[in-house]
Amino acid sequence: RRVGFAIVGLGRLSLNQILPAFATSDYCKPVALVSGDRPKALKIAAQYGIAVSHITDYAGFEKLKEMSGVDVIYIVLPNGMHYEFVLRAAKIGKHILCEKPMANSTAQCEEMIAACQRGNVKLMIAYRQQYEPMNRALEKAVREGKLGKLRSIVASNSQNEGDPTQWRLNKQLAGGGALPDVGIYCLNASRFLSGEEPNEVIATLVQPKDDPRFKEVEARCEVIARFPSGMTATFTSGYDVHRSAFLRLEGTDGFAEVDPAFGYHGSKLRFTKLMDGKDTELHPAIEEKDQFALEMDHMAVCVLQNQQPRTGGEEGLQDQRIIEAIYRSAREGRLTSIEAPAGATRLG
Ligand code: NAD
Repeated sequence: RRVGFAIVGLGRLSLNQILPAFATSDYCKPVALVSGDRPKALKIAAQYGIAVSHITDYAGFEKLKEMSGVDVIYIVLPNGMHYEFVLRAAKIGKHILCEKPMANSTAQCEEMIAACQRGNVKLMIAYRQQYEPMNRALEKAVREGKLGKLRSIVASNSQNEGDPTQWRLNKQLAGGGALPDVGIYCLNASRFLSGEEPNEVIATLVQPKDDPRFKEVEARCEVIARFPSGMTATFTSGYDVHRSAFLRLEGTDGFAEVDPAFGYHGSKLRFTKLMDGKDTELHPAIEEKDQFALEMDHMAVCVLQNQQPRTGGEEGLQDQRIIEAIYRSAREGRLTSIEAPAGATRLG
């Protein structure tokens, strides 16, 4: 059977990526919509074959409990709303897929994890890159020692945010600026690709006083994270530069590069490795797949087979712990240590 998803929030990501991805998914179907805009919801429901009885607004969210076929609630709202809606979904006993970043604080993340445990429901954070084939190949290559010992990860994920009135520039709705929205891709990649957890960070923020977009949140964030093995990850994220996104992993025996990286389509991977004393370039042929379909299918399989998602609540919490350490480091202007997560590193 196909696992039924309720989509909460019909913004850009839901309309342009998530709903179209059901067509290529193997295990999922959209069965319900939650939106504050009823005419829009009616139109989208007709387009995707969703029953009118399976549309509700935010106030009526709890109606999802009685709607037939709703197995998973996918929260696609502004970051600052994830906390409230994950708690409400757990209370009505539904499994939850929640967009990144998980929430605005570690305290909220911890409450969300506890609420899902109490409600006996699965919680997955939508780190689509961890389900994307090129990243999976890269992760495997690192684990197999194809680059030798990993020494450094360098990454950038930036874009230009235009509209100064959008929620992404509102601290309460976004939790922060470029760092939790786009910088989180670099941070999360440095953790899952290396298999290590950083123990210290040093960071600096740029928040131009003369730009009306950045009254509440940072325009740019530059980070150096140190890992127990001696590896470092250096990354930049920006909201006031033209789209730029790449990822480079440097090891003792070679390097790997994804450029462009982090997008929905068109990532390119290459390896450069020392072979017989020469630098040799390798361009592995990896078929592009819809990351949202892969991510939702992972959640569906977890529901069908009663498994824990690869990117559960702890994954979102750990990124949030590091994000908080990054902000603290920038504020205090010094190297800041990061509390080790329960269960420590996943290396090996
Ligand atoms: P968006 O602004 O396009 O959509 C947000 C939706 O929330 C809209 O339908 C809006 O009407 C609704 N909403 C309800 N209450 C609101 C309020 N008080 N203020 C503003 N909007 C409100 O945003 P989006 O780009 O679709 O992002 C939604 C979530 O998805 C965010 O958490 C974001 O970080 C995440 N996201 C993830 C990816 C990814 O690749 N995984 C990409 C983009 C966005």
